[in-house]
Amino acid sequence: GTSSAAEDIITPSVQVSYTQLLIDGNFVDAASGKTFPTLDPRTGEVIANVAEGDAEDINRAVKAARKAFDEGPWPKMTAYERSRIMLRFADLVEKHSEELAALETWDNGKTYQQSKTAEIPMLARLFRYYAGWVDKIHGLTVPADGNYHVQTLHEPIGVAGQIIPWNFPLLMFAWKVGPALACGNTIVLKTAEQTPLTAFYVGKLFLEAGLPPGVLNIVSGFGPTAGASLASHMDVDKLAFTGSTDTGKVVLGLAANSNLKPVTLELGGKSPFIVFEDADINKAVELAHFALFFNQGQCCCAGSRTYVHEKVYDEFVEKAKARALKRVVGDPFKKGIEQGPQIDSKQFEKVMRYIRSGVESNATLECGGDQIGNKGYFIQPTVFSNVKDDMLIAQDEIFGPVQSILKFRDVDEVIRRANETRYGLAAGVFTKSLDTANRVSRALKAGTVWVNCFDVFDAAIPFGGYKMSGNGREKGIYSLNNYLQVKAVVTPLNNPAW
Ligand code: NAD
Repeated sequence: GTSSAAEDIITPSVQVSYTQLLIDGNFVDAASGKTFPTLDPRTGEVIANVAEGDAEDINRAVKAARKAFDEGPWPKMTAYERSRIMLRFADLVEKHSEELAALETWDNGKTYQQSKTAEIPMLARLFRYYAGWVDKIHGLTVPADGNYHVQTLHEPIGVAGQIIPWNFPLLMFAWKVGPALACGNTIVLKTAEQTPLTAFYVGKLFLEAGLPPGVLNIVSGFGPTAGASLASHMDVDKLAFTGSTDTGKVVLGLAANSNLKPVTLELGGKSPFIVFEDADINKAVELAHFALFFNQGQCCCAGSRTYVHEKVYDEFVEKAKARALKRVVGDPFKKGIEQGPQIDSKQFEKVMRYIRSGVESNATLECGGDQIGNKGYFIQPTVFSNVKDDMLIAQDEIFGPVQSILKFRDVDEVIRRANETRYGLAAGVFTKSLDTANRVSRALKAGTVWVNCFDVFDAAIPFGGYKMSGNGREKGIYSLNNYLQVKAVVTPLNNPAW
């Protein structure tokens, strides 16, 4: 049960082999020689010290990426060759899935089961999906007025800067790197300071797969130094960012004030999960639980406002509480564990502050609310009922295992309330009525609406936000647009017979 702390910590069966920056095909120290520790969220102890990249390292990495773009061979290789390298990489990911899963769990705290059965397969799948696009990206011939031959060339943008968060280190790597490579760009990727380890490992696998040096450069380091240098770099042609809305505003400003590089943003959320009176209640309880508690609640699209119709509200609250009480928390390497620790002390403190805020604003604390044990960052699965829209816990992104259940009366009301947020990343709709499902999914201002399901993340399905949850879409065909320039080439046709 939830009372079991992570007393006996399992030692992962993996070595930390790569802790240096990957620049121009080599693992190198930071120019400053500095390192910083990455911590085990189960204990707060140091796993390894990794190179702390800053402005000078970003410069070196951008230079390498520029050279690999301008001089090739990457953008000049045949599409088929580039596709083959991505496919070989996916095979290597599968070959090394156990080490990768162990490293991801060690650095992040998510369950080994999840790393092994969801994230590693999705990483390989995403690269195979984008490998399939490489030789299908092409322009058009355009029937313009006048006697012209007009064609469009779909060209890579150039050097892509990518900044990723800590909650899904490998999947965020995949969502960014997959489409950028497919379109023929070169990359400088900055990992999150909490989780630098797995990106280096897969960077090594990419070299093994035959990716030319300089195409994928990986810099670990902090936001205000390495991250800001990348966002404001004059020789970076495109920026993709995932993280908090506040930092999203900062990087957008840095891009605007440097060279106006286009920016795609995947930011925070406060996604509604709406349960109508005709829903299968047991399924809705289970999926609402999953929608919120998955990945320790550290999902940008977490279903963090559970709206339940008044007729089924009491039954739902009771069952949601019972489910949360059954959630098994502990060492994420242990079999049967559903929830590991939060990522770090900062996030742990933030979640605990929101729990106190919920209690102080008179929401009903149904269960949980405390730390588990006294080591690492484990939090009891927490459920609040009688939550009102104007409470902080119903407005802010908590990013932790805290479910907020709200009551509603009719469809129009819940559509209005669900949309009354600065965010618009995702939503869940639970009903057996096709009419209700269609009406509500069209009315919600959210980039993804899951009907009678949640967190379905196929590589082909676009993902992204309305409003302050960001702009642009990742995954699927839509992500290719982020990494392509369209060039119109206009040539007179001098023979009047044409
Ligand atoms: P963050 O936005 O600060 O960090 C995300 C990435 O941005 C990291 O790589 C970080 O180093 C980098 N960064 C930070 N400051 C930067 C700057 N000035 N210039 C350039 N890059 C910078 O997020 P966080 O502090 O790790 O987490 C805070 C909150 O963000 C969380 O509580 C959660 O609400 C939200 N969050 C959302 C997502 C998501 O997927 N949408 C992911 C992680 C965190």
